[in-house]
Amino acid sequence: MKTQEIIELGQKYVMNTYGRLPMALVKGEGAFVWDAEGNKYLDFVAGLAVNSLGHCHPKVVEAIREQAETLMHVSNLYWIEPQVKLAKLLVENSALDKVFFCNSGAEANEGAIKLARKYAKKYLGPDKYEIITMEKSFHGRTLAAITATAQPKYQKDLDPLPPGFKYVPFNDFAALEKAISPNTCAIMMEPVQGEGGVNVADYDYMQQVKQLCLEKNLLLIFDEVQCGLGRTGKLFAYEHYNVEPNIMTLAKAIAGGFPMGALLATDKVAECFQPGDHASTFGGNPLAAAAGCAAVSILADKDFLVEVAEKGAYFEQKLHRLKDKYSFITDVRGKGLILGLGITVDGKSIVDGCLQKGLIINCVGSNVLRFIPPLIITKQNIDDAVNIIDEVMSGLSFNEVEL
Ligand SMILES: *Cc1c(COP(=O)(O)O)cnc(C)c1O
Repeated sequence: MKTQEIIELGQKYVMNTYGRLPMALVKGEGAFVWDAEGNKYLDFVAGLAVNSLGHCHPKVVEAIREQAETLMHVSNLYWIEPQVKLAKLLVENSALDKVFFCNSGAEANEGAIKLARKYAKKYLGPDKYEIITMEKSFHGRTLAAITATAQPKYQKDLDPLPPGFKYVPFNDFAALEKAISPNTCAIMMEPVQGEGGVNVADYDYMQQVKQLCLEKNLLLIFDEVQCGLGRTGKLFAYEHYNVEPNIMTLAKAIAGGFPMGALLATDKVAECFQPGDHASTFGGNPLAAAAGCAAVSILADKDFLVEVAEKGAYFEQKLHRLKDKYSFITDVRGKGLILGLGITVDGKSIVDGCLQKGLIINCVGSNVLRFIPPLIITKQNIDDAVNIIDEVMSGLSFNEVEL
């Protein structure tokens, strides 16, 4: 099918929930994707930080093919070999002890909220239920996850929202401390905010948050759906801080492009879920878990992570050069290969300009360009991307720059 036909069918039959670009991607390999007309693009969005191993990584493809021929789905009424293997991989490489599998980031966070409340009832008292989350956070689109997401634009007209959430500005310890009430049971945050504009938690702030949780008996929940699994140059973003959460959520990159989410917890917290308390029909099914085993065993590799950190530093340094060159760039943010450029011009014209030159990037809010390329990119890919961004920026008209 041609792009135009795909768009027409989509407009007729698919709910209009996304502000989609007028393009249809039909094929991918490594860091590149092709549209329906055969145009090739360097992909610095990577399925929104899902395709960390690039598109159609041979090990993931092989694992899916083999598992699809053997056993695609069975119920969690039975033990599932690929699921227990993936759980072992995640536990052995993290500070958490047990895993619950689901199918998306929102669902993982939904599970985290339920687990935190179960823990609170069991250990903290009947009136403990409140979870404090951060402004500019993003936790997903189910009702509880969108309530945890402290961004009014996503909550509009959905009221009544589930009670028990309170919001504070990110990286503001005084505000957090002040917000703790007799009902508070947990603090939930992304160590590096993705959707909210690539905001990195300060090192000292993180130490204070952990200390506060210990003092006040609060659970610390890290949403590493976007920043986890190698994205920042460490397997988990919390490793940059030497601060360990009690609960952590994962999704996006976990199964190399196959849909999957996971909720991890320490033993003491995980035990607050007993048989019948939580479930998912598809959660950790053989096909998803086999893809997950293939993906996580690569993502957790020490040498692989060292390379991600190196490439991230290289990219960041090149972005700083762009900042020195263009006055409309306010700052360079991020860690590893989740990077952003704060800009005072409309990001859409830059995104569109890059697309025309064969580079896919995106813009969060209207004034942060976000770069979340596959972690397998080369320095040459980074050079090519930065050259395209530079060309597009140098071609911005005076009016656009003044916006
Ligand atoms: C994408 C994202 C989610 C939601 O994941 P879905 O799979 O879309 O439900 C949750 N938290 C963070 C940090 C995310 O980036």
